[in-house]
Amino acid sequence: MEKTENKMEKIVSLCKRRGFVFQGSDIYGGMAGLYDFGPYGVELLNNLKSEWWKAHTQYRDDYYGLDSAMFKDPKVWVASGHVGGFSDPLSECKKCNTRIRVDKELKNIGISADEKMPESELQELFEANKNKISCPKCGSHDFSPSRSFNLLVKSNLGDFTGEGKDPVYLPGEACQGIYLNFKNVVDSTRAKVPFGIAQIGKAFRNEISPRNFLFRTRELEQADTQYFVKPNENKEEYEKIKQDRMNWYISLGIKPENLKFVQHENLVFYAKDAWDIEYNFPTGFDELEGIHDRSDYDLTQHMKHSGTDLNYTDPYTGEKYIPWILETSVGMGRMFLAFISDAYSEDSLGGETRVVLKLSPKLAPIKVAVFPLLKNKPELVERAYAIYKELSKIMKVEFDDNGNIGKRYRRQDEIGTPFCVTVDFETLEKNEGVTIRDRDTGEQVRVQEKDLISYLTQKMA
Ligand code: ATP
Repeated sequence: MEKTENKMEKIVSLCKRRGFVFQGSDIYGGMAGLYDFGPYGVELLNNLKSEWWKAHTQYRDDYYGLDSAMFKDPKVWVASGHVGGFSDPLSECKKCNTRIRVDKELKNIGISADEKMPESELQELFEANKNKISCPKCGSHDFSPSRSFNLLVKSNLGDFTGEGKDPVYLPGEACQGIYLNFKNVVDSTRAKVPFGIAQIGKAFRNEISPRNFLFRTRELEQADTQYFVKPNENKEEYEKIKQDRMNWYISLGIKPENLKFVQHENLVFYAKDAWDIEYNFPTGFDELEGIHDRSDYDLTQHMKHSGTDLNYTDPYTGEKYIPWILETSVGMGRMFLAFISDAYSEDSLGGETRVVLKLSPKLAPIKVAVFPLLKNKPELVERAYAIYKELSKIMKVEFDDNGNIGKRYRRQDEIGTPFCVTVDFETLEKNEGVTIRDRDTGEQVRVQEKDLISYLTQKMA
């Protein structure tokens, strides 16, 4: 336990020190559950989004992309069930008023519980077991009864009364925009069931206890797909989607032993099936992505509440039906944490210990760093800078002439740069090309400048 806590601390510290992730509103003392992505963090985040986006909208011809407005008609959140039931069970420590999320605390002591259980059932479990749960702040076991707390965040957009009446909600989940645009996509494209819609969008949740760095935040971004199938033709497609999502993580370098499928024990009444992909975070295995077989619930609800006919008409048979939906949903911050945890390693290279992020080259914030061997030799600096400029036209490259070469390698190792190119005297005087050093092995090869781009692009494919 101590070891894993230590790993999380090391990751948080590396993320801050090297400009991946900062606490939100840091200079004002920080705000719980909010984080800002720094210069290298935003590159990694964008690379993750880009790989996800390509997997769904570029490599597949049965998916369509979408970017819907965050604010939506307030009735949307009534139809989706969020106004009535988007809540987590909350209890307060009677000694220090620290709030805890009851289902998660019960789970931590090995009791099967989740937020979808009836309030009374959770309360009973909590009463019977709260002597085994300690307040994370003061250690007390004296808690108030468990009660439901709605997580939706309200705003006053379009309300000029100044009284906060008629709240418009910030999105509790990003996927609602997909349901709202199902008909628009069908009417404006050649989409035919089965097909999917993919979207990456922001969501906001008044999480009771944001914790574990990017794992549980109050502002998040979700990458969602909704795949529309004919009623009762869900099973085979659901299995395919599950496997595709698992393979996607592995193809981008996550170690298979750190991933597993876990089936939900308690299903909401309309769901046919629900699985999570769990990742072995520094705090242990926990939900990374949800994959849900949701029947026709979402479109039926929006049809009822909006009065708009959301039936799909099969263009070949004329059959009319409400498609069933297979959903995948993952938080980008949680995904970022999984990839950075998996890549984080400490090893020894050339007799020196180092921290290295073994990120897939596709995800690395910087693909190549270019160095002149010495800073005080203008001919080396000039040549290296020209190579840097040339490579920058096709990939994200960094130029560094600061400090000894060993230090420069260490800096790049820590941010996961897969290759370092060095211009030395052999480059200039003997026309022997540049050296390319591999992040993971430390091995160096010499490559002629004219072959540099093809060498690097091949290595990164
Ligand atoms: P949890 O049980 O952890 O609260 P959930 O089951 O409510 O999650 P969903 O509503 O299904 O999660 O959201 C889909 C995905 O969005 C999750 O698998 C997770 O990756 C991400 N996610 C949800 N809530 C948060 C959060 N507060 N911070 C970061 N990511 C989140």
